[in-house]
Amino acid sequence: MALSKRGLKSAPAATSVKPLALILFGSPGSGKGTQSKYLVKWLGIPQISTGDMLREHIRTGDSIGASVTDRMKAGSLVPDELVNQLVFERIHQPDCERGFILDGYPRTLAQAEEMMRVLKAEHAEGVVIHLVVDYNVIISRISGRRVCPKCGTLYNAVSRPPKVDGVCDLDGTALVVREDDKEEVVRQRLVQYERQTQPVIEFFRTSFSRSNGDRLVEVKANGDGPETIFERIKSELQDLVQG
Ligand code: ADP
Repeated sequence: MALSKRGLKSAPAATSVKPLALILFGSPGSGKGTQSKYLVKWLGIPQISTGDMLREHIRTGDSIGASVTDRMKAGSLVPDELVNQLVFERIHQPDCERGFILDGYPRTLAQAEEMMRVLKAEHAEGVVIHLVVDYNVIISRISGRRVCPKCGTLYNAVSRPPKVDGVCDLDGTALVVREDDKEEVVRQRLVQYERQTQPVIEFFRTSFSRSNGDRLVEVKANGDGPETIFERIKSELQDLVQG
């Protein structure tokens, strides 16, 4: 990542010269992954999902994957140093020069502090989008969630059913329940969220520097379809892009 004219996709002449660090924040099942995909399309900057990166290490069977498998299966967080390192390396890839979307990071105070340090060092502008969702909505969303093991597309029995029950629209693969979407594991992930991740929002509230352009935006992400929620996010971020 380097200081560069932002030049976001729909904004050839961006209003700021700082790279944008868009942080999607919210509990498991709040829709971070879905909104990230819309944002990637709209802004033309990459999504960095720590959950996807970790699952990819498990899939390839390398030493990082081996070291996190048990924790992820149990719904526990993996060590801060490991995710900090993965994110640090990823954001220094050339495709992150104008900015990036963080999905699932930071999730602890230690990660948030490291993130702030990196943003300062890189002269990046931090924008946190907090997706606020009720507990019962989260439970029903996660329990209906199915994923294509081949291409990673997410489906939901209620809000985004596949055209043919149990089969991916894109490649016809049989859909599965993600290992950590099983009920006991979901509860554990929500406990972790309350304990370790929720305090991160307070940290951003108090440590973000408005003069640097950093900000925290709260978006109601309950009860409406994903497109409506994306429209809300867009209207909050309109000033980041021109045209
Ligand atoms: P969700 O947001 O629905 O919980 P993710 O795919 O983001 O799902 O994360 C799945 C799992 O990956 C987490 O339960 C945790 O074990 C691990 N993980 C992902 N991001 C982090 C992170 N920033 N810090 C620690 N563990 C993480």
